[in-house]
Amino acid sequence: MHLYIAPMSHAQLSPDLSLVLLDRDGVINADSKDYIKDPAEWLPIPGSLDAIAQLQLHVTVAVCTNQSGVDRGLFSLGDLRAIHEKFQSQLIAAGGSPLNIYFCPHGPDTGCECRKPHPGLLLTAMRELNANPSSTLFAGDSVRDLSAAEAAGCLPILLRTGNGNDALASLPATPVTFDDLSELAAAVTASKRRG
Ligand SMILES: [Zn+2]
Repeated sequence: MHLYIAPMSHAQLSPDLSLVLLDRDGVINADSKDYIKDPAEWLPIPGSLDAIAQLQLHVTVAVCTNQSGVDRGLFSLGDLRAIHEKFQSQLIAAGGSPLNIYFCPHGPDTGCECRKPHPGLLLTAMRELNANPSSTLFAGDSVRDLSAAEAAGCLPILLRTGNGNDALASLPATPVTFDDLSELAAAVTASKRRG
């Protein structure tokens, strides 16, 4: 486990931020130990879609998510597409814009480069969206999200939704932490107004 830099106050988010990458389960929608297998099981965390729409006023937002349920045979790529269509349509209804969703469909034993904590999804997102690591943050609710961010060279952010409080308890040092996506969106907005 790497050590994370000491707690940073919310006020210190860089005004140069251009790309916000988000984990999906436990960050945007409620997570489930039984996986999110179809659109009916995909339920947004209250306020999360409004927060993404608010972020999109200031930065590009994209999603980087492990979806090993595909490899495990729990749901198909078509199911995943349908889940993401529900997500995108609800985001548009909340005033947001469609966003890129990068996912890893592989299981933990396949040795792929995209499954977090590997940085593959984040590196692809930054390349396709023309962002540098120094102007990118990745917000997630697990230690492997923080590790992926660190490996990709972007700012790791821990949210306390989903698995976030358990992750926080397991870390040797406190990462930059926000209660939820709404608090992150407020901090990004404040940094842009300041900058
Ligand atoms: Zn993968």
